Amino acid sequence: MGVPLRSASRLAPPGWITGTVLHLCAGRIADPVSRLRFLRRSTVLVEERRTQAKRTMMAVAIGLSIVFMPTSSIITATSLLRQHAIPPPERPSLQVPGKPARIWLVEKKDDFEVYSNGLRIETRGEQYHSHRNLRAFDRRGPDKGQPDHPLVVAEPNRPAGIVFHTTESDIAPFEESHNRRLQILARGVLGYVRQIKAYHYLIDRFGRVYRVVKEDSIANHAGNSIWGDSKRLYVNLNDSFLGVAFEAQTRPQDGFETISEAQQHSGRILTDMLRAKYGITAENCVTHAQVSVNPDNWGVGAHTDWAVGFPFAAMGLPDNYSIPLPSLTQFGFTYDVSYVQLSEARLWKGLLLGHEEQRQAANVAGMRLTEYRAELRRRYHGIYQSIKNQSTREDHQE
Ligand SMILES: [Zn+2]
Repeated sequence: MGVPLRSASRLAPPGWITGTVLHLCAGRIADPVSRLRFLRRSTVLVEERRTQAKRTMMAVAIGLSIVFMPTSSIITATSLLRQHAIPPPERPSLQVPGKPARIWLVEKKDDFEVYSNGLRIETRGEQYHSHRNLRAFDRRGPDKGQPDHPLVVAEPNRPAGIVFHTTESDIAPFEESHNRRLQILARGVLGYVRQIKAYHYLIDRFGRVYRVVKEDSIANHAGNSIWGDSKRLYVNLNDSFLGVAFEAQTRPQDGFETISEAQQHSGRILTDMLRAKYGITAENCVTHAQVSVNPDNWGVGAHTDWAVGFPFAAMGLPDNYSIPLPSLTQFGFTYDVSYVQLSEARLWKGLLLGHEEQRQAANVAGMRLTEYRAELRRRYHGIYQSIKNQSTREDHQE
């Protein structure tokens, strides 16, 4: 569900940023609806961070100033932080809001499963791609001068996390009068994602949960991607993470909700079941936009589904948009202004934190930022190549 529209009198967040920067920036948006959405989202962000008001508002202002700069004059986050004498944002604490309770399989038939939390999974037509072979790398890095070797994983078939997607397929208004079209679109997208083995799960607009690819198989959902928890790094998450897609568009037309209430409910009970079944930590439940990378240009966000608006709280998860992106902190990736603009203010915090961690680590290592990034990129390249070589060997063995 989207953020409810607030009254005009509540649009203004507290402090000088509201009166100057936000409205100045908003003034540059010609379309009144887009302007209102921009202000509304900026307001929500500021209110969420009231306790850290000054620091957070400064960061938002800097983010917005980057957004509205021409590409040729982008100032780095670091120089902006220095210029405004702002301490770097603190790493968020990732308090897990309650571990999912034990959830068990109640009934299993040829074409569906029912779980104790009310989850029903349609299993007819589920696909198998190839076996999962989870590879994880030590977050601390290898011993000096050594190449990275995958950690020994006790259960290489057990998924380590969940990547949430949107199908970005055609959608219709979620109204009774559009029932027929809604059903046609749902059937169409299910057929397509089955054909290309795109995700493990699809949740249609009515909240029906389909298992598209079996959980012990890989699905083609994440492509070039990176994530990491406190101990491990994962590269190319098809091998390690489950893919859950909502029949939705990250940026639907004005007036459309991103996902329906039924989808939210089903997403929550599916997430709970998968986390309980595999012991998946909250910080390993993230969106495609957070993990997607393009090794050709060292940019993050090659795929941008759920770059904004993923309802983490409704899924029983903390706001993982605040986690510094491991692609930046561990492997030297960067981001460009268009991505900041696309992700609006939420993922921006993770980008800023990631960039700041890069800078601080370079300082500690006594290196220039560009040299430090080059080191990190060498590490990524080594891991990427070893995964590719391993996959080729496995293909030949099969
Ligand atoms: Zn995706």
